[in-house]
Amino acid sequence: MGEPSATVGVLALQGDVREHETAFGEVGVRTRRVRRPADLDGLDGLVLPGGESTTLSMLLTSSGLFEPVAEAIGGGLPVFGTCAGLILLAERVEDGRRDQRSFAALDVTVRRNGYGPQRFSFEGRVVLAPDPPGEPMPAVFIRAPVVLAVGAQVEVLATEGEGATPVLVRQGHVLGATFHPELTADRRLQRLFASMAEPAARRGR
Ligand code: GLN
Repeated sequence: MGEPSATVGVLALQGDVREHETAFGEVGVRTRRVRRPADLDGLDGLVLPGGESTTLSMLLTSSGLFEPVAEAIGGGLPVFGTCAGLILLAERVEDGRRDQRSFAALDVTVRRNGYGPQRFSFEGRVVLAPDPPGEPMPAVFIRAPVVLAVGAQVEVLATEGEGATPVLVRQGHVLGATFHPELTADRRLQRLFASMAEPAARRGR
């Protein structure tokens, strides 16, 4: 990438905000913390970090961000949810709290904490599909959700383990990872999202 051209918001209500900022900074993408609706103005993309999806859901409501973020995603704003962030994007959530809300932008079924206590936190090797290309990537999973089913419109961009469980999925302008790409050194996913958030790419849609 040459000069930074996209500004990506990082939802900064809870979770590992700084790690996302550092990771995007390393690939030349400007970031802005999003805490209030006005922080969404003029963004080219939005990252929903990991944390606790139940807490994030409550904070999104109390901050007044839930509706404006839902509207922005519905209007085509590229969004990248990691771990709890992916849960917030999923159309169907198993083992969630009953009052937990979702933007329902990704046609997937996820189960919260779906790897169970044996795999509470683990480092796996993720096998990438053609886009983004290349070698398997080390990936950190922390109380991660499991993607149980994906709809026909959803591309599975990476899998993990013998059962080839989907761990990176994309549906148009919506990207979701069950792991934490901001916690490892590989920057392919930040580059992929940067390309989705490029103003030129967005105008072409
Ligand atoms: N278990 C968390 C949830 O259900 C997600 C964990 C994470 O984001 N690292 O929201």
